[in-house]
Amino acid sequence: MTHAQIAESLQPRLLTLHAEIAALETATTQALPAKFADQVGELADLATDESLEVAHIHEAEQIVAALARIESGHFGVCSSCGGEIAPARLAALPTAINCIACAA
Ligand SMILES: [Zn+2]
Repeated sequence: MTHAQIAESLQPRLLTLHAEIAALETATTQALPAKFADQVGELADLATDESLEVAHIHEAEQIVAALARIESGHFGVCSSCGGEIAPARLAALPTAINCIACAA
């Protein structure tokens, strides 16, 4: 897989994440119900939504960073040792910033 192909494969995922983050933002900013009894369930839902949102934001950040590295020509370079990250590892995990040796 070329770096351009990896960038192409990451972009739809990033768009999906952006849409889901926007939807979760809407869900988590809604007012709580007036009755405390109803709020219990709402708060439990909210906590789930927010942890999902945090996970999505984290993944989106990693994808944006990977796309930036592709753009700048630093993609596939280990951030720890400066060595090459194996193409098979990048194909499986395009957001990897370390080679296998440094990640282990
Ligand atoms: Zn390394």
